[in-house]
Amino acid sequence: MPNASDAFVHVAIKCPICQRESRQRYLKSKLYTPVEVEGDMHVVKYSWESPVYAGIRPNFYHLWHCPHCRFTDEKEVFRGEDDCGGKLELIREKILIYSKAPNSLITRLGKAIAFDQLFFTLETALCIHLLAIYLQEMLSANMRQHGKLARFYLRLAWLFREKRSWPVPERDVPPPFASYSDFFASMQQDWPAIPLQEEAAIDAAIANYQEELGHSRRVDDIRFEINIMFLLADLHARRDRLDDAIACTRHIFQQANRKRQITRQALDAAVNKGKATSQEIENMRTLVNWLNNVVDRTSALNEELANRIFDREYPRAREAVLAMAQPTPDNIMARLRELKFHEITCQRLATMMRQKMLRQGDAPTEVAMESKGFLSFMIRRLFRDKGAS
Ligand SMILES: [Zn+2]
Repeated sequence: MPNASDAFVHVAIKCPICQRESRQRYLKSKLYTPVEVEGDMHVVKYSWESPVYAGIRPNFYHLWHCPHCRFTDEKEVFRGEDDCGGKLELIREKILIYSKAPNSLITRLGKAIAFDQLFFTLETALCIHLLAIYLQEMLSANMRQHGKLARFYLRLAWLFREKRSWPVPERDVPPPFASYSDFFASMQQDWPAIPLQEEAAIDAAIANYQEELGHSRRVDDIRFEINIMFLLADLHARRDRLDDAIACTRHIFQQANRKRQITRQALDAAVNKGKATSQEIENMRTLVNWLNNVVDRTSALNEELANRIFDREYPRAREAVLAMAQPTPDNIMARLRELKFHEITCQRLATMMRQKMLRQGDAPTEVAMESKGFLSFMIRRLFRDKGAS
């Protein structure tokens, strides 16, 4: 029978900053498979090779941490496969100064990390992630690796979410604080933008992903761009910025459609002229299939977002319509726009009236369901009209 501690592989490795050796851990790769994943890639449920491992939280162990100088980053940096985009020297200079200062934020966060414990607590994982972010943000804004920061902030958001979803009593709270929340809040003086809950971490992840999209050389890679845009749509929706989320889906739809058209033409030309290799043709076919899937996924997501806006506004909008003397579709549009309802709500209610579907006592979802086919058509049209403007 395996033991939970067998889940880890330990390696002795030299720190790329202070050159001292430490023992790092990672989880054996074939131990688990994600079975339930949220829209922002957070894994809610894993399937484990053995039930003895079920209490392990893989997210806690993603980053490596040097207990000597407090350097914290992805394992690739420790292994010398990533030099922090050429900024490792700059980070080294700063760490070597601040990790010696007894009251520096690096020292305070570092001391709170129970690195010797085989199983990290969620709070240790939070400290590790905050430290990794803080170290990257010591670089001036134009020197930062936004892709890396975006990933770190997203992971931090997952940890805050897990802390709320699966609460466990806190252990080893650093004195003199009553809770880790107080401990983290005490750092605001040195780090005014320190994220103290999931929402702030998500906002920082969004800002960094947007920077990354604006600057990365990888934006030529359509899969990379679209995957980030899907992630941004999910993150905006989590923050209840549904219009921003819809704007992302619209962008994905346009990009995917355009690329699909170009690729299909190239594929036809390649097949007709017979100049492309079979591998090139196969790659183009794979891309077209992937883009078909993206377009379907985008439409479904867009409809889901529109439904959220509509379901929320429906009871009030319905009251407004029922109070009208002459609720013709045109009058409904004008009145609801005047009352500052979302364009989606205005269009849908006018459509429903047009279809004589507005009956007292209809639940919004029932109404939405009844006119689903037409609504899909409306959404697609709205989508196209907005995209063209
Ligand atoms: Zn070190």
